[in-house]
Amino acid sequence: MFYTSTRDKSIKVTASQAIAQGISEEGGLFVPCELPQFDAEKINSMVGMSYIDRAKTVLKEFLTDFSEDELNYCVEGAYSAEKFSSKAVAPTVKIDGNKNILELWHGPTCAFKDMALQLLPYLMTVSAKKTADGKTIVILVATSGDTGKAALEGFKDVDNTKILVFYPVDGVSPMQKLQMTTQEGNNVSVCAINGNFDDAQSAVKSIFTNDAIKKQLAEKNMMFSSANSINWGRLVPQIVYYFSTYCDMISLGNIKLGDKMNVVVPTGNFGNILAGFYAKQMGLPIKTLICASNSNNVLTDFLTTGTYDRNRDFYTTTSPSMDILISSNLERLLYHMSGEDDKLVADLMNKLSKEGKYTVSEELIKKIQSTFDAGFTSEKDVDETIKNHFEKYNYLCDTHTAVAVRVYDEYVKRTGDDIPTVIDSTASPYKFSKSVLTAVLDGKTPELDEFDMVDKLNEITGAEVPTPLASLKDKKVRFNNVCNKEDMSEMVFSLLEL
Ligand SMILES: *Cc1c(COP(=O)(O)O)cnc(C)c1O
Repeated sequence: MFYTSTRDKSIKVTASQAIAQGISEEGGLFVPCELPQFDAEKINSMVGMSYIDRAKTVLKEFLTDFSEDELNYCVEGAYSAEKFSSKAVAPTVKIDGNKNILELWHGPTCAFKDMALQLLPYLMTVSAKKTADGKTIVILVATSGDTGKAALEGFKDVDNTKILVFYPVDGVSPMQKLQMTTQEGNNVSVCAINGNFDDAQSAVKSIFTNDAIKKQLAEKNMMFSSANSINWGRLVPQIVYYFSTYCDMISLGNIKLGDKMNVVVPTGNFGNILAGFYAKQMGLPIKTLICASNSNNVLTDFLTTGTYDRNRDFYTTTSPSMDILISSNLERLLYHMSGEDDKLVADLMNKLSKEGKYTVSEELIKKIQSTFDAGFTSEKDVDETIKNHFEKYNYLCDTHTAVAVRVYDEYVKRTGDDIPTVIDSTASPYKFSKSVLTAVLDGKTPELDEFDMVDKLNEITGAEVPTPLASLKDKKVRFNNVCNKEDMSEMVFSLLEL
């Protein structure tokens, strides 16, 4: 299995090259040249497997230059019982009728990013051994909150790696901020930037592709890589849980082998939902992928009109991990849906960076719409959904999950399509205690500090507090750096002591 670039089809690299490098030289994203196919028999054989075995079954088709021992080492290390509080790793929970929730937040940082970022450091160090021997990998991360912590936790004290995380100073929840600023490990640094997530992401992308900086790193025997969802090693682990939830839906008696289901994804950078698209292309019976956004509804507009336009107000919402106006992974979808038209993708991405917008052909958007539906939710409706869902089903959702639940309810009303459905739940409600508590209390935020909010929410709802969040209370803040976005490259030099 080989990988190519969305902006230059003549490129051909192995899985380990794609993972170690992160992004292609000319700025394109690595994509598989063809997709492995899973027929009903193969899917059926996965129903009785553990999550770890399901992961091996899927990943081995993509990481064909990994030996069996290497793959076992990676997968068993990533999804061990010490790291995931649920034995199922990513359990599927029935809510009501055909509505099910896939809980992707039982890892060490209580958000779905752990599903990929627990595995990525393993994939990356094995890949680097094969392709860049002896080099220290420097991971640069721009985060809207959850990626940063999950990457820090995944890479901390991993030999031959260093990790630097940048987050928007006012764009993350107090719990997310504390999770990052208290991070332990000898190879980690964290810095706030004056700007929003898109500023941080653009700066990271330009540092990555800056030849002068790369050269200086090379002299120190270091190389950059990315833990953002532009890295193939971030995406490929996410394909696994779509197969896994389908198997669980069979075990739960919600569907029979071969039946179709819908999938709803609270979306930001388009990584999670794209993994669902890959699963569908591989033969998993998914009917429609429903893309749920908050007030930053640039994807809803694109998927309904064919015009992507980031020239709009940016809103800071209660679902900060989805406060994104440039969804990087959409580039991969455009590549596949346009019949692998690398020239078109390069042109559209050039327009996006110069004018902030582009429009695709009628034919292309129609094709995308045959697989994707989309909707967005106001802040008020998010709050109402958290409260109603708790009162009706005794199930507490975080703000991101509530966006998806609401968009799904409206989708069913609009289309009447109520076949068995899995809604991705991307964070523990305790990661966003203040917003969730305020919603449950009908808009009244109690005057409490972050940890008292956690206790209060627990007292009112009885939902279990994840241990990694409860234990933050006693940790000491290690990182107070703040810098302007223009100064990020200098910050990188100083943090790396270059
Ligand atoms: C990252 C994140 C998302 C968005 O996922 P994408 O893959 O970027 O679309 C949604 N919810 C939470 C809690 C997240 O951390």
